[in-house]
Amino acid sequence: MKKILILGSTGSIGVNALDVIRKFPDRFKVVGLTVNSKIDALEKQIKEFQPEFVVVTDETKAKELKSNIAGLCKVFSGYNELLESVTQMDYDILVGAMVGFAGLAPTLEAIKRGKRIALANKETLVVAGEIVTKLVLEHSAQIIPVDSEHSAIYQCLIGENLNEVEKLILTASGGPFLNKDKSFFETATIDEALNHPNWKMGSKITIDSATMMNKGLEVIEAKWLFGLPVEKINIVIHPQSIIHSMVQFVDGSIKAQLGLPDMKLPIQYALTFPERLKNDFERTNLPAINNFTFFEPDFDKFECLKLAYNVIRTGGITPCILNAANEIAVDKFLKGKIKFSQIPCLIDKALNHIENHFEPDIETIFECDKITREFVLDAVV
Ligand code: NDP
Ligand code: MG
Repeated sequence: MKKILILGSTGSIGVNALDVIRKFPDRFKVVGLTVNSKIDALEKQIKEFQPEFVVVTDETKAKELKSNIAGLCKVFSGYNELLESVTQMDYDILVGAMVGFAGLAPTLEAIKRGKRIALANKETLVVAGEIVTKLVLEHSAQIIPVDSEHSAIYQCLIGENLNEVEKLILTASGGPFLNKDKSFFETATIDEALNHPNWKMGSKITIDSATMMNKGLEVIEAKWLFGLPVEKINIVIHPQSIIHSMVQFVDGSIKAQLGLPDMKLPIQYALTFPERLKNDFERTNLPAINNFTFFEPDFDKFECLKLAYNVIRTGGITPCILNAANEIAVDKFLKGKIKFSQIPCLIDKALNHIENHFEPDIETIFECDKITREFVLDAVV
């Protein structure tokens, strides 16, 4: 029986993780759940999964929950108690399903305890990939990716030699604006940007998919997860989102992993690896899909993708600047304060304004995230 702590249990990945856990009651026991503020959804989860503790980052909401559930489980509150629970409570697997930079600090604490981390929070690897991968080795921790592309590559690499990999091929759906002209970005609405054709996800990653920043972040994530140079990481547009990614080997052979666009499969894999457990999830019906198409991404149209490749090549603290600027720009767009087309402009501005540091330590990364947020919050496009 594995004890599971889910960070971000009310989000899209968190809810899917609980859907998986519900199917295997003799394998997994939820010991902890954390959320930012959605206490109504959390209360239902507490009643069903009976965790030993929960953490609500919003302290007012934490108090409200405490009085609502009257001693059903321990309730911790605030970000510091979130970190303390990751550091001190008893669990085997951490599901990293918080969104954004806020997911970094708790992930580092779980790594220092040598835990298995089913990692969805790609921002952790984007901003601090080098530090994270060193710590994982030092503490014999284990990161199993939940991001569907990286789960696919992880699966394709089983039994293979990394030296025989010619390239990784990350597939991308292209998002809701794949067939729009760049001029459309001037008037794209929030609802249009949130209307992803294949995946139901949280709002931040859905906007990242519309700008294709998501795929840029995933290239950085792949670089650190698999230890390969960016020259060996390619992107191909595959609008059907059935092939989740591929690995091409030095003999020209390509291995792919396929499945429906449903995060339950990569979540289950990350929880049960190296085992595969039988489930009753819907199966892929290939004749019904009928055609698979592939084409090159358009770097001129999707400027965020170009910015992401630039920071990978520049290195240092620039991926952290890119990530923080993107988080604030996306938030501004979702609040109706800037146009869709202004997201890459704000990120570019931050990258030009904030000084780079090579080989940053963790304090420099936290400081850079803070400075960049302040800069972009104040910046006018
Ligand atoms: P959601 O926005 O749906 O959920 C985020 C979760 O984190 C919620 O439980 C939220 O709590 C909590 N949370 C948000 N901010 C904080 C904070 N500052 N402190 C503590 N808790 C916080 O996100 P997703 O599930 O879509 O994405 C989660 C991560 O997984 C992201 O990094 C994303 O890139 C990655 N990912 C997601 C995929 C998907 O299909 N959704 C696919 C691949 C990767 P509350 O509900 O109370 O606000
Ligand atoms: Mg993905």
